[in-house]
Amino acid sequence: MARPFLFLDVDGPLIPFGAPDYPLFPPLPGPADHPLLARLDPAHGARLAALPCELVWATTWFTDANDVVAPRLGLPPLPLVDEPADSEIDGLHWKTQPLVTFAAGRPFAWADDEISAADRTWVSAHHPAAALLHRVDPRAGLTEADFTTLADWFEKLAPTS
Ligand SMILES: [Mg+2]
Repeated sequence: MARPFLFLDVDGPLIPFGAPDYPLFPPLPGPADHPLLARLDPAHGARLAALPCELVWATTWFTDANDVVAPRLGLPPLPLVDEPADSEIDGLHWKTQPLVTFAAGRPFAWADDEISAADRTWVSAHHPAAALLHRVDPRAGLTEADFTTLADWFEKLAPTS
């Protein structure tokens, strides 16, 4: 059966806001330069790629995620959720409906710093398969604990998927 998706936000989970202003990691060659890119931890790419899932961008970086973020993480170009929602629902994140549409009934995890109770409620009512809406602390970005939570969730999902 098809593997679950992991919908990945960039600002917050991969680019933490709590990081100092100076570059944390040496600049890498890329088609475009952006001061925030120095906050990307190149080691996150291998950690993400090792998860038993299909990685999908869900970020306002849109195609820039593949142009400038993925290469710095050593990730291949990934699919992208970029469809706007059919209609705006009060209190719902703009990504929530498009993610559920993209998932089309496949289990998914979503790592984002802006997930709210409204998103959880809406997903549980509109997505028939398992979903993990995992809120990441944007001050720290993805931590060891986040990777453990995600890996454990995918692992538990495996026998029934
Ligand atoms: Mg974010």
